[in-house]
Amino acid sequence: MAQPPKQVQEQAHNTPIPGFYAVLKQAEATLPPQWFTQYTPQQVAAALHESPLSLEGFKALLSPAAEPFLEQMARKAKTLTQQHFGRAVQFFTPLYLANHCTNRCLYCGFSTKRRIARHMLTPQQVEAEAQAIHATGLRSVLALTGDAPGLTGAPYLADCVGILARYFPAIGIEVPPMHTAEYRTVVAAGASSMTLFQETYNEALYAHLHPAGPKRDYMFRLGAPERALQAGMRQVTLGALLGLEAWQDDLLRLVLHVRYMQQHFPEAEISVSLPRLRPCTEPAEGNAAFTTTPVTDAAFVQIITALRCFLPQVGITLSSREAPHLRECLLPLGVTKLSAGVSTRVGGHTLEENGENTPQFAIADERSVEEMMQAVEAQGYQPILADWLLALEKAPLPKAVCTALGNMNEVS
Ligand code: SF4
Repeated sequence: MAQPPKQVQEQAHNTPIPGFYAVLKQAEATLPPQWFTQYTPQQVAAALHESPLSLEGFKALLSPAAEPFLEQMARKAKTLTQQHFGRAVQFFTPLYLANHCTNRCLYCGFSTKRRIARHMLTPQQVEAEAQAIHATGLRSVLALTGDAPGLTGAPYLADCVGILARYFPAIGIEVPPMHTAEYRTVVAAGASSMTLFQETYNEALYAHLHPAGPKRDYMFRLGAPERALQAGMRQVTLGALLGLEAWQDDLLRLVLHVRYMQQHFPEAEISVSLPRLRPCTEPAEGNAAFTTTPVTDAAFVQIITALRCFLPQVGITLSSREAPHLRECLLPLGVTKLSAGVSTRVGGHTLEENGENTPQFAIADERSVEEMMQAVEAQGYQPILADWLLALEKAPLPKAVCTALGNMNEVS
């Protein structure tokens, strides 16, 4: 595969073309339509014996021919997960700061087309949310906003992160893509990680799903992880919203993105998240229809196990979009990070639910942090309430604690 251009090119509308775009387009040019239907059981069996798994082997594991091999894939994924992550799982919770949005994403409950009450937390309300989350024991939080640059852009976000930094050593952001200088202000305020889903890597489908607003700029979004790391962010979580496109297509492009980021930012931690499309709470008015391509539970197991086999050292986040039982089944197969005590409403940890404060989407796992801890411990796993790497950077753990965490990140 050719190296991306060294110099950043400029499009006609002045959006920088991310280096990954060239890699993506070159890979797409060699992919036949429905490429994932072309693998045989023999190729899947051979892939399961590869170490490390090749990209071709990974593609075989995504194919329908791999469906009868799910048990073998699960066994391999479980072994690799324990080898690289022990029996530890990180917890975090999302904190919705605002739901003002100028975009019309067809699949989202906060779309500007939806007639919902809009909220934006004041500094006092952010502090109250921080205190409520801190009281649960969590030390890792993910701050989210909609896309309303004039209201909740970088200055607002940096102020909120500054408040959160008084309570949490690990602060992530899941916000619209920003310029490098804007990321710098948020990093300076205390953010250490960013999550950004490309939603779908299919450029034409992306244009259909995002008919208006700044999010229409596919290129600006695709380059955001690179800009965030250039601005000093330590960790990036990439993902695609599963259910918009044939999942094999987006999964393949997602791992290409992960590998590109690992090659170009070897000092950064690159993780993935696997959100499956969930129903919104309110129908959109005036938005075009879109067809979902549902991802079954069996396909979801195939996705996680194939990912773990191909990227054995990459963290995988599983959100509260998934039901408790499924989350527990998937935990040993590759999941390293779980959300807990989740609300997708603005100020959902403190503000009363009054019918006007609608969630972004329905969640399937409403368990509290304590309930989640009990469930995870019952499975023989150790819940980690902070970002362990960041905690180790700030205050190395004693050897005995490292041993308890599965011999991870040991500091002598
Ligand atoms: S997905 Fe994000 S950008 Fe799109 S409408 Fe929802 S909140 Fe706005």
